[in-house]
Amino acid sequence: MEVKTSLLDNMIGVGDMVLLEPLTEDSFIENLRNRFDHNEIYTYIGSVVISMNPYRSLPIFTPEKVEEYRNRNFYELSPHIYALADEAYRSLRDQDKDQCILITGESGAGKTEASKLVMSYVAAVCGKGQEVNKVKEQLLQSNPVLEAFGNAKTVRNDNSSRFGKYMDIEFDFKGDPVGGVISNYLLEKSRVVKQPRGERNFHIFYQLLSGASDDTLRKLKLDRDFSKYNYLSLDSANVNGLDDAANFRTVRNAMQIVGFMEDEVQSVLELVAAVLKLGNIEFKPESRSNGYDESRVKDKNGEDLKEMCELLGIEQSVLERAFSYRTVEAKLEKVSTTLNVSQAYYARDALAKNLYSRLFSWLVTRINESIKAQSKTRHKVMGVLDIYGFEIFEDNSFEQFIINYCNEKLQQIFIELTLREEQEEYIREDIEWTNIEYFNNAVICDLIENNQNGILAMLDEECLRPGTVTDITFLDKLNTVCAEHQHFESRLSKNSKFLTDHSLPHSCFRIQHYAGKVLYRVEGFMDKNNDLLYRDLSQAMYKANHKLIKQLFPEGNPAKVNLKRPPTAGFQFKHSVGTLMRNLQTKNPNYIRCVKPNDKKAPRIFTDSLVRHQVAYLGLMENVRVRRAGYAYRQAYEPCLERYKMLCKQTWPHWKGPTREGVEVLMADLQVSTEEFAYGNSKIFIRNPRTLFSLEEKRRGCL
Ligand code: ADP
Ligand code: MG
Repeated sequence: MEVKTSLLDNMIGVGDMVLLEPLTEDSFIENLRNRFDHNEIYTYIGSVVISMNPYRSLPIFTPEKVEEYRNRNFYELSPHIYALADEAYRSLRDQDKDQCILITGESGAGKTEASKLVMSYVAAVCGKGQEVNKVKEQLLQSNPVLEAFGNAKTVRNDNSSRFGKYMDIEFDFKGDPVGGVISNYLLEKSRVVKQPRGERNFHIFYQLLSGASDDTLRKLKLDRDFSKYNYLSLDSANVNGLDDAANFRTVRNAMQIVGFMEDEVQSVLELVAAVLKLGNIEFKPESRSNGYDESRVKDKNGEDLKEMCELLGIEQSVLERAFSYRTVEAKLEKVSTTLNVSQAYYARDALAKNLYSRLFSWLVTRINESIKAQSKTRHKVMGVLDIYGFEIFEDNSFEQFIINYCNEKLQQIFIELTLREEQEEYIREDIEWTNIEYFNNAVICDLIENNQNGILAMLDEECLRPGTVTDITFLDKLNTVCAEHQHFESRLSKNSKFLTDHSLPHSCFRIQHYAGKVLYRVEGFMDKNNDLLYRDLSQAMYKANHKLIKQLFPEGNPAKVNLKRPPTAGFQFKHSVGTLMRNLQTKNPNYIRCVKPNDKKAPRIFTDSLVRHQVAYLGLMENVRVRRAGYAYRQAYEPCLERYKMLCKQTWPHWKGPTREGVEVLMADLQVSTEEFAYGNSKIFIRNPRTLFSLEEKRRGCL
């Protein structure tokens, strides 16, 4: 039998942080660095995989590697994302346990690549056959479509996902994929109208202009020249290593495989073109007799407006009017008020953002229609979550607040599923166990999401309140309510997470997240939460003679005039995060923690301070400590005896008695220290992976 590398052979540093001696933050980081320097990008904390972004292609994702990891035990080979994927897949297929793969880390750490590696591994090892292959192909090809519309070049990542994604892959009883369901979270729609310096708009705009045929561009009334469009930033339009034209062909091809009809693709591109046209429309003031300025479309933009209306089948005068006036419905009356120039720009950008983000959601829905499983029988499910990690920037706004809230919820899931579940298993198995204290972040989640006085609820309340409400009145309210709350809390637990002190800059509040303190600036909170689109614009869109655009603005239907305001962005996000959490809670979690080695997007550079920061907020040290306090490994008696019975004369070749006794005989014979393991009701628990490795070593010696 061929000898394979195990966690102990040729090991660079320590393959599992649980084995690290002594365990300090310094030794932890040194171990990561040592392994990274030797191209070992994966390291375990028990069953958690830490993944360092190599920023270059390593020869470790070949079909041979897939074969090597296929059907092998987790600890048998050197750490690899394939080991985690294999374990999750086999547990799903053989033990019928639904799985979820939770991938976290900051932007550019390699989450999306990791999610694709997991998907392609599973696709490679599961069943073959024409039907199955078609399903696999569709599932995999949904990626390039969503990346074209949802990813962009940022300073942190040339292919940064600007949305959160969760995908359930469904399998039949044999373990063959039969379909999938994708959920998307919070697309960063502000990018459509404005990009930070050195960043781009979403890929699709550049891909379309570079890659479409002359004929297509003519039909879409577009010019190849990026510089013709206000919404496209100029300083970074061409990105090294990104071939927009080739990617456009990939996306077109992927859309076809996923099942988009030719006319649907056409409609989608018309909307993309319309957004570009919309961005070019500019406004000028026109003085009215009442002394106010009213906004008018600049003469030079007459053509852009006309072309945009032609693309979407909208009557030009209707749209033009919607950029000069808005109708306010007060009680039973409709009142028309004028828009000044800055309000017109606001309306234009709101329309562009809404149009694009609704198009994106529609794409997800449309892909789901294609890839959903045909049969209604119960499926085994593997969920893959690729979502933004914790963000602490110099300037943190509503988006960071929402993203960090989501990370708090994920941390809570981690606590519930890993720490609590772990402790419960010890109780179930009658293993002697002293509870470990861990920081429960429930108070922070409550501070944000509590229905009465949570920050999101107060924001919604402020958005609805009549009168003069501003970001600052919202902040005042927070300070009053949370400070009271804090007082209340502090008497109870000394545990308040809403921090106020005199050093706070004007218009900011601070939260003590589990991953660190974050200062949020309130400017824009109300506006982003409100996400207002003037009704005149949604009605103009609804009236369009264009099936897709009409469908995207159902609230523009005058028959359905509803004075109730649409749910706020915060409310919607909280709702979808809640659904996600309930979904994850029913599954067996597998964790991939991605770490970015440097912020130059460069290979071979390991920046100590940067890694240290991530280790802290990913909670990796805490993770190792919990792991070390408990038992790193457990296995049911039956497979354990089967695997190691060859190591002991009394159990080889057959053990006649109860399996548990067989395992006891085996352990005694091998003189494994009794402190190293415990016998549960149905499983043996092994404290230190080293014990397991030495069993594996001995076993290999016998083969
Ligand atoms: P995230 O989704 O966490 O923001 P990505 O997965 O998009 O990060 O990774 C950013 C970039 O890093 C990728 O475009 C790729 O260039 C590089 N990268 C990430 N993971 C790997 C890997 N396993 N091998 C090689 N390059 C990688
Ligand atoms: Mg990503």
